[in-house]
Amino acid sequence: MNAYMGHDGEPMDGACLVFANTAKEAKRLASPVIQDWMLCEYIDVRVQRIESPAWLLENAADQEKLARGEPHVVENPPTCNGCELWHDELIDGYCESCEEERTGGNDG
Ligand SMILES: [Zn+2]
Repeated sequence: MNAYMGHDGEPMDGACLVFANTAKEAKRLASPVIQDWMLCEYIDVRVQRIESPAWLLENAADQEKLARGEPHVVENPPTCNGCELWHDELIDGYCESCEEERTGGNDG
């Protein structure tokens, strides 16, 4: 199963996570969600394959659906405590760049 980010061309405005086998399938699943959020057309909906989905498969996917091999959308994947966006991986609740900022300070 692959992971995809579905959005309307501007992922910062809102992106859902899709687990599917193909980009076509991901788009079919993401479209109703993105169209509802953004009030955009089907043609505006884009899906972008996530290169390293291992963390998301483990932490964001619906494990029952995953076990059945059932493609599905996750509207609210776990988000970073810093930038409040979701990423392909969070470290202790923070994304890579926020984690760096957090631990890069003088006072741990
Ligand atoms: Zn962050």
